Amino acid sequence: MGPGGALQLLVFGAIHGDEPESAELCRRYLARLREAPPVADVLVVPVTNPDGLARASKDNRRDVDLNRNFAARSWVATHPPGYFPGTAPLSEPESLAIARLVDSLAPRVIVAVHQPFRCVNWDGPAAELAARMSQACGYPAVASVGYPTPGSFGACYGVDRGLPVITLELPRLVEEADYVACMQALDYATIWRAKP
Ligand SMILES: [Zn+2]
Repeated sequence: MGPGGALQLLVFGAIHGDEPESAELCRRYLARLREAPPVADVLVVPVTNPDGLARASKDNRRDVDLNRNFAARSWVATHPPGYFPGTAPLSEPESLAIARLVDSLAPRVIVAVHQPFRCVNWDGPAAELAARMSQACGYPAVASVGYPTPGSFGACYGVDRGLPVITLELPRLVEEADYVACMQALDYATIWRAKP
């Protein structure tokens, strides 16, 4: 563990199984961290929704959108078609696993990698980090993805709990330059500290 005993950065990909390049970015970043270890501790979870990724489905095997299944105040059972939030918050093993990682390791910064909106979205006190990551990768920093996300990871840990949460949205078509640029953006998250 780094200074203060806390994990600096948790990065996770493919919580939506139809966003395979989010897992690929995580795998590449992990490989790079092994070659050039960061100054602080970083944990990378390339595939959060393995069943979904295996069948190229957004949802998990029980047809739950895991990014609507977190224990946010905004979680609701009613939902638009295709966004089943589960029968209760954290009803799914995949979201529970991520929640337990966050609760036990208390990362200073969390980056969730998604596709396809090509932007750096933030929740909680992460506007400055989002701006820096935006500069690094060239994607716009946006405070909102433009539609409500009740029960999302960002709603739970950014909005409710006040942690710096970045949602890094890759484009639909990811090119080599995107991986390079997004890894530079992730590097900022390995050193960034919230101002007291
Ligand atoms: Zn997604």
